[in-house]
Amino acid sequence: RMNDLPGAIRTTCPYCGVGCGVQMQGGRGAQALGDITHPANHGRLCVKGSALGETLGLSSRLLSPMLRERRDAAMRSAGWNAALDRIADAFARSIAEHGPDSVALYVSGQLLTEDYYVANKLMKGYIGSGNIDTNSRLCMSSAVAGHKRAFGEDVVPGCYEDFECADLIVLVGSNTAWCHPVLYQRIAAEKERRPELYVVVIDPRRTASCDIADLHLPLAPGSDVALFNGLLLWLAAHEATDSAYIAAHTRGFEAALAVARQSAGDFETLARTCGLGRDKLQSFYERFAATEKTVTLFSQGVNQSSQGTDKVNAIINCHLATGRIGKPGMGPFSMTGQPNAMGGREVGGLANTLAAHMEFARTEDRARVQRFWNSPAIASKPGLKAVDLFEAVHEGRIKALWIMATNPVVSLPDANRVREALRRCEFVAVSDVVRDTDTAALADVLLPAQAWGEKDGTVTNSERCISRQRAFVPAAGEAQPDWWALSQVAARLGHGAAFAYRSAHEIFDEHARLSAFENGFAEGGAGRVFNLRGLVGLDAVAYDALEPVRWPVLARGAQSGRLFGDGRFAHEDGRAVFIATAAQTPAHAPGEDYPLVLNTGRIRDQWHTMTRTGLAPTLGAHLPEPYVDLHPADALASGAREHELARVSSRWGSLVARVRFSGELRRGQVFVPIHWNDQFASDARVGALVNPVVDPISGEPEFKHTPVRVEDF
Ligand code: SF4
Repeated sequence: RMNDLPGAIRTTCPYCGVGCGVQMQGGRGAQALGDITHPANHGRLCVKGSALGETLGLSSRLLSPMLRERRDAAMRSAGWNAALDRIADAFARSIAEHGPDSVALYVSGQLLTEDYYVANKLMKGYIGSGNIDTNSRLCMSSAVAGHKRAFGEDVVPGCYEDFECADLIVLVGSNTAWCHPVLYQRIAAEKERRPELYVVVIDPRRTASCDIADLHLPLAPGSDVALFNGLLLWLAAHEATDSAYIAAHTRGFEAALAVARQSAGDFETLARTCGLGRDKLQSFYERFAATEKTVTLFSQGVNQSSQGTDKVNAIINCHLATGRIGKPGMGPFSMTGQPNAMGGREVGGLANTLAAHMEFARTEDRARVQRFWNSPAIASKPGLKAVDLFEAVHEGRIKALWIMATNPVVSLPDANRVREALRRCEFVAVSDVVRDTDTAALADVLLPAQAWGEKDGTVTNSERCISRQRAFVPAAGEAQPDWWALSQVAARLGHGAAFAYRSAHEIFDEHARLSAFENGFAEGGAGRVFNLRGLVGLDAVAYDALEPVRWPVLARGAQSGRLFGDGRFAHEDGRAVFIATAAQTPAHAPGEDYPLVLNTGRIRDQWHTMTRTGLAPTLGAHLPEPYVDLHPADALASGAREHELARVSSRWGSLVARVRFSGELRRGQVFVPIHWNDQFASDARVGALVNPVVDPISGEPEFKHTPVRVEDF
C-alpha cells in the first residue's frame, strides 16, 4: 500500500524490530498506512501494522493510578501523588534498610529511548545499583554479547539494503516471514526480481520463510555451533578463506579453527550431529564458500539458547574468515525482536552495560558517566540479568520492584516461579497501558502509562536507524509518559535537580550529549562507534521533525551506512576477534518422562502477550486460539488427536492447547506460540513450561529447547 495520506502524522510501528514507518490519520479511529518515505519499509506494512487502527480503543486501558494498602485488599483509584509517594517510600525504605541492590527495575523493549534513558540514569547513577534489566534480555542479549566479543562493541555492521544486493541470504533461527514480515517482503521482492538470489533457511521447522528458500536445512535443535564450526573448517580446507583479511584485520583465527576441529569429527559425524543429509550440508557449504555477497540473518532461534552467544560468534567467525563484513551485500545481521531493543542497548537498559555503549569493566567509563551525570552513586558492578533478577525477588534479596511495559508472569521462563516471586515480594509497582495482565494482578501500585499513539520520543530499529515515534491522539485518562513517572519518583528520592525534564526532547538531547561526551571520535580518535554528536543541540522543532537516521551520526545532516568496511573494529587494537566455540548440547535432553523437545515462538498476527494485538478482530482470525503443533506420529504415540485438546507438560509446568498438525515439524519436536496467557485462555502460558536455563555469558534463556510430554486432555 504505497499511497499517501494528506495531513497524516508520521510515526513508527510499535511491534517488531524492522521498525516500519507508519502514517496515521484520524484520531482513535485512525487508519494506518505505510510511510513511503521511511527507509525501513518504503510504504509497506505487514498485517499487524495495517491493523494498528483497530487497537486504539480504550476498553482495556488503565486510566488512572491505582493502589492497595495490603495484598488481600482490592485495588482502588488513587491520585498520581499518592501512587508516586508509595513507590518512592517503598524504594527509599528498602535502600535505607538493605542497600541499593535490594531494589530493581524491570523494563521493556517497548519503552521509548527517552524512557529507557531516565530509568537507567535513576537506577545506575542515582540509586547506585546495576539492578535494571529489560525483556530485551529474552530476545537478543546473546547477539549483544557476541558483537562485543567479536567487534569490541555492540554494533550491527550492515543495513537492510544489504539484503537487496546480496547473492546469498542465509536465514538462521528466524521465521522472517512471520516475525519480521516487511523485511521478508523486501527479500521476496528481490528474489522475484533476481531469481538467482539464493536463499537458505536453517531452522528445525519448515516455516513460512521456506516459501522462498532454495535450500532448507532442518537442523537438529541446538546444533548451530557444530554447523557453523563445520563451515569454518570447510572454508579453510577448500581455500575459501581470505587470508590477507584475516592477517590484517583479525586475531584468533587459528585458535578458533583448532577448537572447531576438536569438536567436529568427520563429515559423516557432523552431518549426523546436525541431523542433516550429507548432500544438503555439502550443498550449503559449497554455496557459502563460492558466494562473495553473503548476508547471514539470525534471530531468536540462535539467541535463545544456553549456547546463544557462542552460536552468534560461530556465525560471525565465518564472515570474518571470508572478509565478508561491512561491504555491500555482506555481513552477519542480527534482527532484534522488539521495536526498541536497540534503543535500550544504546542507553544501557541491560543490567550489564552502562550508557552510550560504555562498560562497567572499564573504570574510565564509569568515571565518565558519573562525571556527565554529576551522579552521587554510580553503580560499581553489573546488576542481575532477568532470570537471576526474578530469582533474587523469589529469595527475598530484592524487596521492591518496579516493572514497566512488560508482562514477566507470562513471558519469562519457569513463569509459575516468577508469579510466586511477585507474590512474595514486599512491594511491586507496575506501569502499563492495560489494566488486567497476569503481572498487574500482583501489583501494589499500578501506574497508567501513555500508549503508542499518545507518547512521544524515539526508537532504534535493527539496522541502527533512529526514528521518531509521534503522538497523534491525546493521552487516555490520566496516563503519563514513563519518563515523567520515573522523574517524579527520582525527585521524591531527593534527586529532583538531575531529573527536572520537561519533555522527551530534553532527554534525547542529554542522551545525544552523553554519547559524544569524552568520546574519542570527538577528537578524531578511535572512540566508541555509538555516537550521536551530530544530533546534539537539536531544538524542539528539529527534534520533532527528525528524519530517520542511522547511527553513528557524527555531523548534523549526516548518517551512516555499513560499518567496519575499512577493516577497523572497536577493540583497542582495531582488530576483530575470532571466538573459539566448542559445540555443546542443550542443557536438558529429552528422556523417558519428557521425550519431546518444546520450541516456542511468535505467530504471524499476534504480538507478545496480546495486550494490543488481542484487540484487533482482523488479527484474531488468523490463528484464534492457543495450539500445540506436533508431528502426527508423536501425537499418535502420546494419544493426542488433531483438533482436540492436549496437555503439554515439562518438569516446570504445563498448559492445555489444541493439537495442530502444520506439517512443519520433524518427529520429536513440539511448537507452542508464546502469546496466549491467562487473560485470554486459562492454563495457556507456555512460559510456565520453559526451563529456566540461560546462556552463561548473555543470560538469555533457552526458550527453544525444553523437554516435554504431550497427553490427551
Ligand atoms: Fe510493524 Fe514489523 Fe510489521 Fe513493520 S514488519 S509493520 S515493524 S510488525
